[in-house]
Amino acid sequence: MILRRLLDLIAPRPCAVCGRRLAPTEQLICAACLLHMPWTDHPQHPYDNDLAKRFWHLLPIERAVALWHYKARSTNTYPILQAKYFFRPEAAEALGLIAAHRLQSSGFFEGIDVIIPIPIAKKRLRQRGYNQSERIARGVSMITGIPVNDQVVRRQTFKRSQTTLDRMSRRENVEGQYELVDAAAIHGKHILLIDDVCTTGATIRSCGSILVTAGDIKISVLVIGMAGEHR
Ligand SMILES: [Zn+2]
Repeated sequence: MILRRLLDLIAPRPCAVCGRRLAPTEQLICAACLLHMPWTDHPQHPYDNDLAKRFWHLLPIERAVALWHYKARSTNTYPILQAKYFFRPEAAEALGLIAAHRLQSSGFFEGIDVIIPIPIAKKRLRQRGYNQSERIARGVSMITGIPVNDQVVRRQTFKRSQTTLDRMSRRENVEGQYELVDAAAIHGKHILLIDDVCTTGATIRSCGSILVTAGDIKISVLVIGMAGEHR
């Protein structure tokens, strides 16, 4: 903490939402902004909510939580944008810490054996230098002690650009883009899939359906932002 105070004196850290200076105990988002984030009610209903419903009958889904609603052009999107596009892996880790702190006492993490971050394409990984979902997963792991395994599934690379495909074939493109590389590591386990933002649920459905082929697994889902249709 003394080191944190010294570092904050030399290089003050701004809140990712309002830009005000963070206190030494604050991570990424100041206490005032945290109070006003558009939190979902998912932590109170982890088995039955509008995120979990996106996976019913499609995956062996247990619990699903999106931390807050992701509204485009709102300042509330800044923490996720920073974690994803501003080359700030520590911002992604802080998102994981915030999520874990918020959910820890609710029993959300009970019985989960391993955390699997949604993989990103190799090319994207080279450009960004890190997978934001993997960094979020590390943050969650720091609080919960649940191990992260980012070697179970990988994203395949495609020659065709997604933007050149029409809507229907783009959906098919998403379907086939993950590959299970270590089935033994997850067989019989309860997995926590982590991603930064859930828009339609297609990414998690696609990755989850590949993981299911490992046999006898349960899936819970944690995302930071929930975009798309919501109230
Ligand atoms: Zn703030």
